[in-house]
Amino acid sequence: MLASHLFNTYARMPVSMVRGDGAWLFDDQGRRYLDALSGIAVCSLGHAHPRLADALCDQARTLIHTANIVHIPQQETLATLLAEISGMDRVFMTNSGAESIECAIKLARRYGHERQIDRPAFLVMGDSFHGRTLAAMSASGNAAIQAGFGPLVEGYIRVPYGDLGAAQSALADNPDIVAVLLEPVQGEGGVRVPPEGYLAGLRAACDQHQALLIMDEIQTGIGRTGRWFAFQHEPGLLPDVVTVAKALGNGIPVGACLARQPIADLLAPGAHGTTFGGNPLACRAGIEVLSIMRDENIVERAETLGNRLIARLKDALGDHPNITDIRGRGLMIGIEFDQPVAQMKDAAMASGLIINVTRGNVIRLLPPLIIDDDQLEQIVQTLDKVINAELPIVA
Ligand SMILES: *Cc1c(COP(=O)(O)O)cnc(C)c1O
Repeated sequence: MLASHLFNTYARMPVSMVRGDGAWLFDDQGRRYLDALSGIAVCSLGHAHPRLADALCDQARTLIHTANIVHIPQQETLATLLAEISGMDRVFMTNSGAESIECAIKLARRYGHERQIDRPAFLVMGDSFHGRTLAAMSASGNAAIQAGFGPLVEGYIRVPYGDLGAAQSALADNPDIVAVLLEPVQGEGGVRVPPEGYLAGLRAACDQHQALLIMDEIQTGIGRTGRWFAFQHEPGLLPDVVTVAKALGNGIPVGACLARQPIADLLAPGAHGTTFGGNPLACRAGIEVLSIMRDENIVERAETLGNRLIARLKDALGDHPNITDIRGRGLMIGIEFDQPVAQMKDAAMASGLIINVTRGNVIRLLPPLIIDDDQLEQIVQTLDKVINAELPIVA
């Protein structure tokens, strides 16, 4: 290996991928891996999807970028599609999840100032993750990602995730709270599914205290959990603001902050902006991803395959003494252990399966939504082998 000129920010595994095909990845030694992580919830349509590749090549040959000084028809089309599937009214296009969160935070602060609240605060959750920019990192419930970067952005009041009573009390005690920001299923926090009725309870509490409900769907959105958005598992629930990114471009950087009216109009001309955000290439990716998902019933498939994968994992591993829980929604699945299991991702990689581990003790599975039954079974068999090798059951 040559001496690297890269910042040393990632603990990378010693593998280089050079090609992909559906749920398969191939390294520079010609070895094949089954991808059960999708580049962290990004490549839901798998790798090198022919229809997406054709659309991107066509767009690259036609027009990549103009900046937001002119109308961008692809941006209008993508915004319409996003509004249709989410129930939101307006869309601001970004290039990443953290930028979508920044937009949501600025929008909610504006909403607060409109209500004569000079120091608008946010109710946020323990173990949450919202990104690495200063405001998003400060909102996140993860001391490790904040360490050494103080002073943090102020104005975040934190309660435990899933505890409706704690959220209600905090809203009642803090009239400066202008918004509640949370993930409908926590991703980095260990694939945590909240108790039934939790999101609806938060919606009611927000209404009571005139606070916005901001749903961070960056990991859960665009079909991952078996709905277009995870909040849609709660019938009739509508947030005020929804953030998306990850799977929207299947790997092309594109994100968005979605909001209902009249809230969205609080960001008037000049109030917010981005150079790249919403460029024709990025939006073409988003349009094509959503169109493919619609045409091929990918969201329903995520629900069906997710239920099947959870059931198969419970069959194969449910009795393992070190496994404390197997849970998830759609194809966002966590296997929790009673001890740290970071080594499992390396063992799985050595066995040709790509997974990751969150919070130290939860194996997280985020396979492409296009996996087939054989690949699903291969995930189960490989995990069974790896887990029983790393943590043998002693009789
Ligand atoms: C990944 C993620 C983010 C940050 O997205 P980036 O594109 O890495 O900035 C924010 N929120 C959630 C829930 C995420 O999973």
